[in-house]
Amino acid sequence: MSDTTVEAPELTAEEIHHVDDPSFQPETVALVTGAASGIGRATALALAANGLTVAGVDVDEEGLAETLAKAEELAVAGRIEPVPADLTDDAQIEAAVETAADLGALSYVANIAGFQHIDPIEEFPMATYDRMHAVMVRAPLYLSKLTLPAIRESGDGTGCIGNMASVHGHYVTAEKVGYNVSKFALRGLTQSIAAEGDGEVRSFSVSTGYVATSLVVDQIPDTARSRGLSEREVVEDVMLGQARTKELMAPVDVANLFVLGFSELATHLNGGDLLFDGGITSTYE
Ligand code: NAD
Repeated sequence: MSDTTVEAPELTAEEIHHVDDPSFQPETVALVTGAASGIGRATALALAANGLTVAGVDVDEEGLAETLAKAEELAVAGRIEPVPADLTDDAQIEAAVETAADLGALSYVANIAGFQHIDPIEEFPMATYDRMHAVMVRAPLYLSKLTLPAIRESGDGTGCIGNMASVHGHYVTAEKVGYNVSKFALRGLTQSIAAEGDGEVRSFSVSTGYVATSLVVDQIPDTARSRGLSEREVVEDVMLGQARTKELMAPVDVANLFVLGFSELATHLNGGDLLFDGGITSTYE
């Protein structure tokens, strides 16, 4: 990272962690939401690179095409099937699960799609709140409801549902009420799946601070200008002000956590949260 410009890192094949897991085969399917961009794209690529067949779900068809192009560039071992769907629409969620189940033994789900909206509670638009809840809470629950029977019936009957939470599922910042409530709820869903999964279907959540997706990185020059700081200062003092680790996580770092969470190495990760926040929520002053 240079002192003047902060860029979203380009994912390389070497950064993807490989786990030698008996379930990571082309017959096994992982459904990944948010696969058209950022963390979801990196996760789709990392799971495909580990040999799985990935159903990449997203409302953004152009973004999904770019994910496929990146998969080709990286020559990943598994394939990614683009599955365009709007997660606010039940019929489209149902169709996406059917498509994923037709690809093989549906065993893994990564609920990653999401978005942010900033406004104080008194001004928070309820339609936006409802949309955030639909994409980040209701869709993960409905996808779990629809995929649990498929996971139990396919392959050896075991599987895992991983949910992308955030430090905002542990503590909150002002003017992000829709996001805060959604991420706390997603951790509740994670634990509920673990409670009903009988040890056969596991669940976990992933909680990170800022990740260097283009969405995050593109805000840095404006913040630097408006606060009279260098871009590096925006990263270290504003975004990672409370963190001890002064480097933004890359999307592939998060993707590797989904690879780990789905693998045998995580047999005892069930209902738990992978809190990778550089110390943000656990240290003070
Ligand atoms: P991103 O904007 O790059 O990707 C989000 C994806 O979700 C997009 O491709 C978008 O099209 C998709 N999506 C949104 N609404 C949808 C809908 N109705 N139907 C289908 N797809 C929809 O964002 P990102 O930074 O990669 O974030 C991914 C997830 O990680 C989010 O849940 C976010 O809350 C979480 N997260 C991000 C950060 C970060 O710093 N970037 C940190 C912690 C948690």
